[in-house]
Amino acid sequence: MRNLDDRCDLCGGQLEPGTATLEIWRKQQLMVIRDLPADVCLQCHEPYLSPETSDRLDRFMDTTENVKPRQYLTVPEYSALQALEGT
Ligand SMILES: [Zn+2]
Repeated sequence: MRNLDDRCDLCGGQLEPGTATLEIWRKQQLMVIRDLPADVCLQCHEPYLSPETSDRLDRFMDTTENVKPRQYLTVPEYSALQALEGT
């Protein structure tokens, strides 16, 4: 577990206990896992999972084919051309 005196590796901001929603790509599929306990940077909102949470998440990711998702989301996808043209 991180010490709360630890600082964010990215911006040096202060960490505070909170929750994080992770988006993970696996085998061409995007998965969303909500409200994981994490230490979250107050400045840039980067989440830091404890080693225990991280291990459990890794194990869960090996079993997701057998777990019915709570719901399916529809997400918009854009091409780079759409994103970059005209800007
Ligand atoms: Zn940060």
